[in-house]
Amino acid sequence: MPSNLAQLPNRLPSIDTLLRHPACQALIDRYGRDAVLATLRQLLDDLREPARLGHLEAVEMAPAVLAGRAGERLVAQHQSQVRRVFNLTGTVLHTNLGRALLPEEAVEAVQRAARYPLNLEFDLATGKRGDRDDLIEGLIRELTGAEAVTVVNNNAAAVLLALNSLGARKEGIISRGELIEIGGAFRIPDIMARAGVKLHEVGTTNRTHARDYEAAIGPRSGLMMRVHCSNYSIQGFTTQVPTAELAQLAHKHDLPLLEDLGSGSLLDLTRWGLPAEPTVRQALADGADIVTFSGDKLLGGPQAGIIVGSKALISRIKKNPLKRALRVDKLTLAALEAVLGLYRNPDLLAERLPSLRLLTRAQTEILAQAERLAPQLRTVMGDRWEVAAVPALSMIGSGSQPVARLPSAALCLRPRLSKRLRGRSLLGLEEALRKLPIPVLGRIDDDALWLDLRQLDDEAGWLTQLPELQRMETVR
Ligand SMILES: *Cc1c(COP(=O)(O)O)cnc(C)c1O
Repeated sequence: MPSNLAQLPNRLPSIDTLLRHPACQALIDRYGRDAVLATLRQLLDDLREPARLGHLEAVEMAPAVLAGRAGERLVAQHQSQVRRVFNLTGTVLHTNLGRALLPEEAVEAVQRAARYPLNLEFDLATGKRGDRDDLIEGLIRELTGAEAVTVVNNNAAAVLLALNSLGARKEGIISRGELIEIGGAFRIPDIMARAGVKLHEVGTTNRTHARDYEAAIGPRSGLMMRVHCSNYSIQGFTTQVPTAELAQLAHKHDLPLLEDLGSGSLLDLTRWGLPAEPTVRQALADGADIVTFSGDKLLGGPQAGIIVGSKALISRIKKNPLKRALRVDKLTLAALEAVLGLYRNPDLLAERLPSLRLLTRAQTEILAQAERLAPQLRTVMGDRWEVAAVPALSMIGSGSQPVARLPSAALCLRPRLSKRLRGRSLLGLEEALRKLPIPVLGRIDDDALWLDLRQLDDEAGWLTQLPELQRMETVR
């Protein structure tokens, strides 16, 4: 084949020609030669067949155009997979969206811990080796009244570790009504089995009495357990033994009582008008020997599992080799300490802790925000969509208080179409919102797309993106 054929516009350029092009040189400077070479190869591979069939215009094979396409691919490949989103789902502590947002104090603490060496396991007073739990033990004792504390990766780990440390090869007595499943395949019976504790269930789904527990106690008993049913509620003909009575019974038989509070709370949330959630301090005061709870649910901190209780039992838990496998890192501890510090002044907590501030935002304020934003969204959406500022109901999330609803407000987008076409256009809009530079996540309900504004802090950032929506094919 004569070499001048390669110059004809109906052929793709060679890799070498492309690499020498100034646009590709710029890509190499930015992404490195290997990445650019691999991307160009892939691009040419993808285009070879269309080119052979004559489906490509000459201009589509021009080196500058190909370099541009390679550049787009490289940008996409190098985009972070960890993406910020707008959570307008109405669920505040959304497990799939990272649960609690950290306060500025915690963000700064994380930065410091990330940037500099720190006394993670070093006692600055004695110059000897320290224990990472010591960094937050004082604060947690002060806030809960506990004798001792240890912290692990999350509350699931806390439950696993506590069960395994205190009840391995023995029986754990628990009410049938508390054998719950929490999202992500965390089931109490499975966790017990993995912890080596033999499940001894007592009572019935709706009613368990003190005598049921008592009848189950025998030589093989290792512990009694109570799980706070945070993600479902049983109403009607129900009986549950109060923690204080359960603790008395356990102690009469020399058994420890473990209480998994799930979310748990350090303070009584009703003072902010939120539904009552058991506090860690109360569970301990009632006699629970070990209490476990999450760091990133109602506490509003980083992902962590906090175990509090008696000195003797916490010491046994800390000696378990599993503790080493489940321990938290320095960034988590730094964030946790900063968040706990805010609890020292409850009067300012709702201002300073983002999760509490968002959970307690007044409906009037959110509705005013929705009314302010509705006209701008209406302009972008055109006349095919009805945009209304309406009252809505948010949820706490993370399985906390599943039946509780927080009065909120939303932008409600309803397609002005026949019922037949409505579903598709709603899904199209939902997808377009997801594809924005900062994806916007709402929820589809009742033939409409709802954007609950309880969590829209960055109004300016959100508004900047709206014109982008207008350009997207799916919305038009
Ligand atoms: C959420 C929850 C857990 C698990 O906590 P994570 O911090 O998500 O691991 C365990 N028990 C109960 C009762 C819960 O609500």
